[in-house]
Amino acid sequence: MVRIGHGIDAHRFTDNRPLMLCGVRIPYKKGLSGHSDADVALHALIDALLGAAAKGDIGTLFPDTDPRYKDIASTLLLKEVAEQINLEGFRIGNVDITIVLEEPRLRPHILEMRTSIARILGLAADCVSVKATTTETMGFSGRKEGILAFATAGLYR
Ligand code: MG
Repeated sequence: MVRIGHGIDAHRFTDNRPLMLCGVRIPYKKGLSGHSDADVALHALIDALLGAAAKGDIGTLFPDTDPRYKDIASTLLLKEVAEQINLEGFRIGNVDITIVLEEPRLRPHILEMRTSIARILGLAADCVSVKATTTETMGFSGRKEGILAFATAGLYR
């Protein structure tokens, strides 16, 4: 049986924080605000995986009121979710992420981001897609106020 999940997340730009996307530190003048490391792409992916398994959402599993998750690397949260999904008997088939932002340009980092996720999920890199797009300066991402990310994930068991 194949199951599909979908996730969305958005975080606001802030000063004095590293910009983490898909577990990779991206050189930029700003980072994202959030309780964890605010890796918006991994948060969307986590919700897609949880959605496919019908196991709730990231906010329920890792509440932003819990000091254990303060500044935590979202790669650790992704790893934990992948383990839970495997325990349910699911295998991850493929994942696909779209990151919506005006800048920085992500093209030079796409392969590293795909490899980062593939390593955490135990997938081949060609089962992990990471794409970036702009909104042609429209809306909050267009005004460079933050980053929006979408993800889908396919599970089977
Ligand atoms: Mg988030």
